[in-house]
Amino acid sequence: MTTLLSGTQRKENTRRGEDMNIAIIGTGYVGLVAGACFARKYDVVCVDIDAWKVDSINDGESPFYESGLDIVLDDSLHSGRLRATTDIFDAISASDLVFICVGTPSLHSGAIDLSFVESAAVDIGKVLADIDDYKIIIQRSTVVPTTTRDLVGGIIERTSGKSVGRDFGIAFVPEFLREGNAVDDFLNPDRVIIGTDDKNVANILGELYRDFYPELPDDNILFMSSESAELVKYASNSFLATKISFANEIASLAELISGVDVIDVMRGVGFDHRISPKYFGAGAGFGGSCFPKDIKALIDFARTKRFEPLLLESVIKRNEFQAMHIVDLVEDAVHSLKDSKIAILGLSFKPNTSDMREAPSLRIIAELIERGAGQIIGCDPQSIDDARKILGNRIRYTLNPNDALKDANIAIVLTEWDEFEKLTPADFIENMATPVVLDARRIYDCEEFSKVLKYIAIGKRIID
Ligand code: NAD
Repeated sequence: MTTLLSGTQRKENTRRGEDMNIAIIGTGYVGLVAGACFARKYDVVCVDIDAWKVDSINDGESPFYESGLDIVLDDSLHSGRLRATTDIFDAISASDLVFICVGTPSLHSGAIDLSFVESAAVDIGKVLADIDDYKIIIQRSTVVPTTTRDLVGGIIERTSGKSVGRDFGIAFVPEFLREGNAVDDFLNPDRVIIGTDDKNVANILGELYRDFYPELPDDNILFMSSESAELVKYASNSFLATKISFANEIASLAELISGVDVIDVMRGVGFDHRISPKYFGAGAGFGGSCFPKDIKALIDFARTKRFEPLLLESVIKRNEFQAMHIVDLVEDAVHSLKDSKIAILGLSFKPNTSDMREAPSLRIIAELIERGAGQIIGCDPQSIDDARKILGNRIRYTLNPNDALKDANIAIVLTEWDEFEKLTPADFIENMATPVVLDARRIYDCEEFSKVLKYIAIGKRIID
């Protein structure tokens, strides 16, 4: 039987510390990593509308490749603290904290598509309408400022007939994990940002994170409004993407100056503790599910405020230019694009993930095809299934780097997988029709390679 309590009593009865139960809505990279990791300490129920993902999780198999996730998932399932379901009522009624981790993709205009967040908020509202317990709803998907308070809070209030602050609490807590390193990033964050004006919610979430991260200094748990927290997430990703575009700009300049190597330059610059060497490598450009989409969403959001964000626009343009630049280098290096076999080493946007979203390989392959490239073969240890869904039979695929190199006229390194780092100049020379390597990730030793084959490196002028 449900006990009828006043809003204040319900709040005070909220379980604290290790007794808290968690529901996670959306089991993509963010939701599943959070669910599997939180389940080390708390009871967690993950919800997804995709029954195949739910079954896969309950069977102990991550629906996507993410380094180290299978082990955490396995431990959490065996401890009995984690389960997945498609039944949101079951998940929310068993939980104190409800994290919304659904996708927020880009619309064609670049604006953020909030339809998944809206529909999750409606679903949560419907559950809250039927139960009396106080819940805290934590918006975890990246959203533009004011979304948590106005859109999510507003929808839940309207759908449930309950009041935010009294019957349920709301907060925005951004996720900063990097795909490929997601488990470690989740377990060892630099900081936790708790965005809420509700003191009760701030206290409970403060306790949760202090309990879950006992090693994290108190000063690294930051409290602010949900709007500031929403902007922290966008500003962080925009800044990291800006560093990458900046490195690519300096790399292109370096390629025009004999004796300069962008690796040395950025190391020299990054040693300044005000700058830091991280995310400062020149390469094929940034990609993935977050940087391009988040910067475009922030640009669109700025324009709704009648502000033209010149720097952010340049960061995107510079990133798109890098793909064109790489194809220019290919065109210069081969006799004819039409008659060449091109081996692409690496399709995923970075190593240790199968994620193909906004991968530089997609921009580069599209441009190669546009310019008439005859034969392209893509090699990747994890992302071929996902790549095939996007590129279909416009290219061929292989798991084996030596197969990719067979009779090729140029090999382009686009992802720094270990499998490619292990290749020696002999692998290229023995397999390729014309051994030409365009190293867009700078994984090979310039001197060793350029002595025995035609080696082109982003950010370094190599004299034949
Ligand atoms: P994703 O697309 O991989 O996963 C989203 C999941 O939500 C899918 O499994 C989908 O089926 C499910 N879903 C959609 N609507 C639902 C609903 N109403 N109820 C239940 N499940 C539902 O997304 P992701 O990469 O995990 O990203 C989630 C959010 O986190 C995005 O806003 C993203 O910008 C942000 N983020 C992502 C990363 C990253 O590295 N991927 C890092 C930080 C923040």
